[in-house]
Amino acid sequence: FFITFEGGDGSGKSTQIRRLARRIRKSGLEVTVSREPGGTPGAEAVRHVVLDTGAAEPFGPYLEAILFASARNDHVEQLIRPALKQGRVVLVDRFMDSTRVYQGAGENLDPDFVETLERVAVAGLVPDLTLILDLDPEEGLKRAHARRDETVPADRFEKEDVAAHLARRQAFLAIAAAEPERCRVIDASGDAERVEKRIWDTVRWVMEE
Ligand code: C5P
Repeated sequence: FFITFEGGDGSGKSTQIRRLARRIRKSGLEVTVSREPGGTPGAEAVRHVVLDTGAAEPFGPYLEAILFASARNDHVEQLIRPALKQGRVVLVDRFMDSTRVYQGAGENLDPDFVETLERVAVAGLVPDLTLILDLDPEEGLKRAHARRDETVPADRFEKEDVAAHLARRQAFLAIAAAEPERCRVIDASGDAERVEKRIWDTVRWVMEE
């Protein structure tokens, strides 16, 4: 069973992935947790290049889209598909919907090319379930900033204005509306325990179907 987590910055994806992994393990299944961009040595190298170099000039939209897509294909073929074949539940922090929202909706890319990139990247592997963690961007940014102060250096994506975050929230919700079979919108507001419970109720229900 393949589950992806999507949503804006500070929506709680990594916290909730850890919590869901714990719940699923308790129920007796083996779990693999991963993230994008990343998950394999090559894809983590791409992550570092795109997110952590602190480049003053952002990458061109095609350069970024192609790097993320090739990192995704690496991740699918080397980690996700083999883990699923072993019967493990695979949880991934961001997947193809992040590309649709960050590289697709945000940038002026040729839509045919973006579609081709996605097809090549996922190589036939579509998530069984996508959880879209939905949160007011102001709230998400507050959380993201609090987290940055503690441990992680700011990356260039989180410095953008609220309007860009609002547009991305709408883009995630539009994906959920277009693909209701695969996607569930989760209210990501409130404390982590309550969000965890919302997610677990949804996942249990879908996995038992
Ligand atoms: O999920 P995480 O916060 O670690 O992602 C790091 C950053 O990478 C995010 O702030 C997001 O804006 C960006 N990103 C992106 N395109 C993707 C995936 C992530 O621009 N396909």
